[in-house]
Amino acid sequence: MSNALFITMAGTGRVNPTIFLVKELMDRGEKVTYISSEEFRGKIERTGAKFKGIKNLSNTKDSKTPMLPFSSFKEILELVFNTKEKFDYIIYDSNFIIGNEVGRILKIPTICSITTFASNESIDVFDIFRHIRPNIQQLLTNSDYMDFVKNLQEKYDIKFPSMLMAAAGTGMIKIVYTSKYFQLCGENFDESYKFIGPSIADRNEYMSISLETNDKKKVIYISLGTIFNTSIEFYESCFKAFDNMDVQIIMSIGENINVNTFKSIPSNFIVRNYVSQLEILKQADVFITHAGMNSTNEGLYYDVPLVLIPQSGDQPFVAKRVAQLGAGIIIEKDKVTPEILKQSVVKILSDNNFTINSKKIGKSLREAGGFKKGVNEILNLYDMSK
Ligand code: UDP
Repeated sequence: MSNALFITMAGTGRVNPTIFLVKELMDRGEKVTYISSEEFRGKIERTGAKFKGIKNLSNTKDSKTPMLPFSSFKEILELVFNTKEKFDYIIYDSNFIIGNEVGRILKIPTICSITTFASNESIDVFDIFRHIRPNIQQLLTNSDYMDFVKNLQEKYDIKFPSMLMAAAGTGMIKIVYTSKYFQLCGENFDESYKFIGPSIADRNEYMSISLETNDKKKVIYISLGTIFNTSIEFYESCFKAFDNMDVQIIMSIGENINVNTFKSIPSNFIVRNYVSQLEILKQADVFITHAGMNSTNEGLYYDVPLVLIPQSGDQPFVAKRVAQLGAGIIIEKDKVTPEILKQSVVKILSDNNFTINSKKIGKSLREAGGFKKGVNEILNLYDMSK
């Protein structure tokens, strides 16, 4: 039995895909010590892993917040280096850009966990994060940041990778939660990139919505994910768009809006704060999504064509890739109207090519191997290093 050190920081979307990987490692007899933001304690402890919390780094909508929470780097390093525990390999989120350095110092194999598209020199990663480029520049020239880097070098012998290197993902192998086919320029990535597809398994979520299975009505699922999901105007536009359409709509509005906020909800809508997304997607004909990497992969995993309304982060990039492969239609968030929403859905429902193309991606995602393949790759690397 070996001891895995797992490190992630903020973001449900970065932690969720790792959960089944952790469970699978434990099922195969490995021990896992998982360091992450305190808010994820329950989620991780339920897998049976040993959890060590750093201060909460709740999701933030403030684009001015530096993308990399450096203050938590210190906390993590203290937890890693001030323990007698011996680790056999390290798996770290790509955001923890010094993960490879930690592995080098501990002399253990390094595995990077990449929850968005992977990037290398064939993709301009800064194009993915175009909107936060000024923040990165600002951060890199900030004197506190420079002191911080110097300090880590003196104290732990940690050298910071360049931002480009960090973005490309360091680590002896990289676990990427999508397929090589869906990955932009997938063929340009070397063997160290392991495209395992999304981590899909039973999340043990209570399914409170029952749809009439013998009803022929098309099912449209709407969700803007868990972060950028508070636009009342958007939800109202959906009501107007589909009010008179003979379809069943399921809409997840997130935890920040009270369902009673809406004065009248059309009778063909089921509106909830949170739904078992995977269960709904199994029955959906169209998914109107914010193009979050997880939601997008999940929708396509179940062959559902998408209407993509990217809100922030890597979402415009993800949406572009879906449209490029013919599996969805993009609507810019500022251009959403009831008419455009309806037109897009009607177009998808009447043109079978969208379904054909989403099935093609879906197949690649299902065949990518999932968390079982991820664990095989991790354990192979460890075995080879012994
Ligand atoms: N999700 C869910 N039910 C909901 C809304 C979201 O299960 O009602 C899950 C969804 O399956 C996905 C995650 O929350 O795994 C959202 O991640 P994504 O990367 O799509 O977007 P984010 O919330 O990070 O913007």
